[in-house]
Amino acid sequence: MIAGLDYWRELPIKQQPEWSDPEAVAAASAEIAGLPPLVFAGEIDILRDRLARAARGESFLLQGGDCAETFAGATAEQIRNRVKTILQMAVVLTYGASMPIVKMGRMAGQFAKPRSSDFETRGDVTLPAYRGDIVNGYDFTPESRQADPKRLVQGYHTAASTLNLIRAFTQGGFADLRQVHSWNKGFAQNPANQRYEGLAKEIDRAVRFMEAAGADFDELKRVEFYTSHEGLLMDYERPMTRIDSRNGTPVNTSAHFLWVGERTRDLDGAHIDYFSRIRNPIGIKLGPTTDVATMERLIDKLDPEREPGRLTFITRMGAGRIRDALPPLLEAIRKMEATPLWVTDPMHGNGITTPTGYKTRRFDDVVDEVRGFFEAHRAAGTHPGGIHVELTGDDVTECLGGSEMIDEATLATKYESLCDPRLNHMQSLELAFLVAEELSA
Ligand code: PEP
Ligand code: MN
Repeated sequence: MIAGLDYWRELPIKQQPEWSDPEAVAAASAEIAGLPPLVFAGEIDILRDRLARAARGESFLLQGGDCAETFAGATAEQIRNRVKTILQMAVVLTYGASMPIVKMGRMAGQFAKPRSSDFETRGDVTLPAYRGDIVNGYDFTPESRQADPKRLVQGYHTAASTLNLIRAFTQGGFADLRQVHSWNKGFAQNPANQRYEGLAKEIDRAVRFMEAAGADFDELKRVEFYTSHEGLLMDYERPMTRIDSRNGTPVNTSAHFLWVGERTRDLDGAHIDYFSRIRNPIGIKLGPTTDVATMERLIDKLDPEREPGRLTFITRMGAGRIRDALPPLLEAIRKMEATPLWVTDPMHGNGITTPTGYKTRRFDDVVDEVRGFFEAHRAAGTHPGGIHVELTGDDVTECLGGSEMIDEATLATKYESLCDPRLNHMQSLELAFLVAEELSA
């Protein structure tokens, strides 16, 4: 047992479910602790190096996926569409910015959600809030909303099968750059797709030229693809923590990268303590009210050795606030001996609810926050190192705008998210083209 690894249990903790049967939770956690790791500590170390490069401005992180993965949504088709969308966005970014792109899914474990209220009321019925499939069901019945420890184990197995397919897709030929056209197949024809086709043709020519010239390198055939999720539910994260036999350090083997959300990153709380003790690269969400002192204390606590690649700040300030809220943090960081990776999450500061009750975001606000992020970094001389988005490969109607000009009435036609609204396939590609322009500006 590593000293301190369980110290979080003594500290205030937020956003955990009310399990009704503590013994069943302990049994589920013990079962998970005996199952194989999902990722290997060596991969985690490689990712750290990749992120260190991004922090230095030599590459760029693309992190995307559902707000909340569901067990029912872990189908071959939906996983493939998300992987394809991320691969397509990565191609647009690589080509546009001539920069290596680190590809990462909010996938294979993004099952637990923080909620603004512990309860949800519909009419005169009040039930526990939905906390993600790894905790309870979405159906609005007392049975379904009851936190069920069996879901912890189901979460592990669903993550395992998702990750298995991701590995097959990214290592087994599907992600071969010579397939760049085929990733576009099966998606509805639209302007972003056409623009992508044009780019794919150019890439094809370049690849064929290199082949003709005798080049044949592995980088064309396989892609590194990393997994990530919010490290929220401690009854899952703690049993997935293992001791690396190579060097005796604790690593969380549920994903390569974990982040701590805006609601649980209290400096003296359980989550920050636990995350300070594991070796994975970690992200911290920073909202618009983050002050310099808080940022400094987070760095001291989570990255005392100042190792590039260890700490990522994911800013989610809102389009209207990023231009005021981010610059002071960037100014302060320049005076500190720290090189966190800076990533923009242009989703979570831009939520609105329509009069008809849909949680949504305007594509224009998402774009505006991305632009504000690049502007702030250019002004400060720091590196805009990545983008974190909620997206799906499916043609949903959850965010307003984009070139399909999804309006409020259209939201109802294909709104599938159980949580926050995601960019659909076309909006994701559009955003990638825009970020590529910013990166090459
Ligand atoms: C999320 O990433 O889905 C999330 C809840 O983000 P935040 O912690 O930034 O609100
Ligand atoms: Mn979300």
